[in-house]
Amino acid sequence: MEYEKQYQHVNPAAKYECLLFDVDDTLYSLSSGLSKACTKNIEEFMVQKLGIEENKVTEINRVLYRNYGTSMAGLRAIGYNFDYDEYHSFVHGRLPYDNLKPDPVLRTLLLSLPIRKVIFSNGDKVHVGKVLKKLGLEGCFETVISFETLNPTDGSGSSTSESDDEISLSTKSLDAPSQSALPETPIICKPFENAFEQAFKIANINPQKTIFFDDSIRNIQTGKEIGLHTVLVGTSHRTNGADYALESIHNIKEALPELWEAANKKSEGVMYSKKVAIQTSVMA
Ligand SMILES: [Mg+2]
Repeated sequence: MEYEKQYQHVNPAAKYECLLFDVDDTLYSLSSGLSKACTKNIEEFMVQKLGIEENKVTEINRVLYRNYGTSMAGLRAIGYNFDYDEYHSFVHGRLPYDNLKPDPVLRTLLLSLPIRKVIFSNGDKVHVGKVLKKLGLEGCFETVISFETLNPTDGSGSSTSESDDEISLSTKSLDAPSQSALPETPIICKPFENAFEQAFKIANINPQKTIFFDDSIRNIQTGKEIGLHTVLVGTSHRTNGADYALESIHNIKEALPELWEAANKKSEGVMYSKKVAIQTSVMA
C-alpha cells in the first residue's frame, strides 16, 4: 500500500510525457528588450507597409494583439493582406538578438530532464532558430512548432486569401466584443484552440500528460481548458488557468522537482526506468 502510494507519487515519467515551451519572454526574460523592439517594428510595418495612420497604430496594435494573440493575426482579421515572410523579416529580422546571451544554466536544466521537450511558438521558424541559437539551447528540443508549421503557404510566402474586402479599423468594435463577434483571422496561432489541437497532432502530444510553459495568460488559459498542465512564466502570481507561476524559467526545478525525480529513479531500476531511457535516447 505504502509502496503503491509512493510509486504514484514519484512516477512523473507516467504523469508527464512532454514539456511544451513557448519561446519569447518564456525562455528568456522580458528585460532583454526584444519584446519592446518587436512592438516598435510591428507599428512601423503598419505605417510603412500598410499605410495606417501613425497616430493610430499603437492603439490598433494593442487591441489586435489582445484579441488575436498576435498583431499579424489581427491585421489579417480586419482585412489586411500581406506577405508573411516580408512581415516576419521586417518585424523579427531587425530585433536586437545580440541582447540574448547564452544560458548554460537553462541548457543544463533542460538536458537533465528525461522528458520530451517541444517548442510551440507563434514566431516564424527563422526567429525561433535565432533565439535558440543565441541562448545556446540548440539541440534541447525534439520538435519545433512555429508559425510556418501551422500556417503553411503555397511557397510565395503569402496567403492565398482573396480579401480586398473593406478594412475595418474600428477598434471600438474590437474593444469589448464577445469572442463570437470578432472577425475571424485566417491565421492559426495561440491562444486559439485550433492551434493547440494542431500542435498536439503534429507533435503527438497528449495534453493530459504535458506541461505547458508560456508567459501569456491567454495562452495559459486556453492550454488549461484544453487539458494541459500549465506554468505561467514571468510572474510569481498564479492566475486562473495556471497550475504554477514562475518568475523565471530558471525556477523550474524548485517549482517542479518531481520532474527530476524520474531521472534519479532511473538508476534504481524501477519499472518505469525503461521508458525514461528510451526517451533520453530519442532526444540525444
Ligand atoms: Mg511568449
